[in-house]
Amino acid sequence: MPPSPVASSVADRLSAVRSRIDAAARAAGRDPGEVRLLVATKTQDAGAVIAAVEAGVGLVGENRVQELVAKAPALADHVAAGTLEVHMIGHLQRNKVNQVLATATGVETIDGMTLARALSTRCDRDGRTLDVMVQVNVSGEESKSGVAPDDAVPLAREVAALPGLRLTGFMTIGARLDADGDPADDATVRAGFARLRAIRDEVLASGAPGTADARELSMGMTTDLDLAIAEGATIVRVGTAVFGPRRT
Ligand SMILES: *Cc1c(COP(=O)(O)O)cnc(C)c1O
Repeated sequence: MPPSPVASSVADRLSAVRSRIDAAARAAGRDPGEVRLLVATKTQDAGAVIAAVEAGVGLVGENRVQELVAKAPALADHVAAGTLEVHMIGHLQRNKVNQVLATATGVETIDGMTLARALSTRCDRDGRTLDVMVQVNVSGEESKSGVAPDDAVPLAREVAALPGLRLTGFMTIGARLDADGDPADDATVRAGFARLRAIRDEVLASGAPGTADARELSMGMTTDLDLAIAEGATIVRVGTAVFGPRRT
């Protein structure tokens, strides 16, 4: 069967995104192999997600628990085979952790100990280990979740010490606005990404229990992935550049 039009356009766009990642890494003097692509699948149906997986995507991110649950049956075989990781990249409430744990292999949006303890308790009881990242609100924009930069290091150390969780790094969403409410310029966006890297470096250097694997920097989206890679991103989360404009 020839690939469906959806599949071929997703595959074409994916190769363009991969070229962009490679070029940004090389421009920054980095090995392109250090940067993983996470495909952000919010508002896309299961068919579009599977098209991405069949085009070689091994890591997808979901924002809403409801969407994660709806797509779970389509993703389950790939997850069970170990060929697909599914990260929660949207704000998560503790009363939804059971639904998330049924499918997700990682949660990038730890923003406090209440959520971290809820995930830890459940994973510890089930004898599993969940990959988690601490989400940091580097821009301070009120619309964004995540812990304040000053609180990120202590939170990361506390999370890292919990059973059932493996702290793998840090996640942020780049600045959209500057202090005057105008669109953020590149320097402002980069400064936020650099802040996340400094937080990561401080936690790694602390040598605190459970922090040795906290290497990942999940930062950069369609509009700012090049800046994020220049500042050390190890995971870029891309939706629009893969699927085109979002369905609402
Ligand atoms: C939607 C989303 C992305 C991808 O954004 P695009 O601009 O479509 O590339 C990445 N991260 C998070 C947390 C998102 O919600």
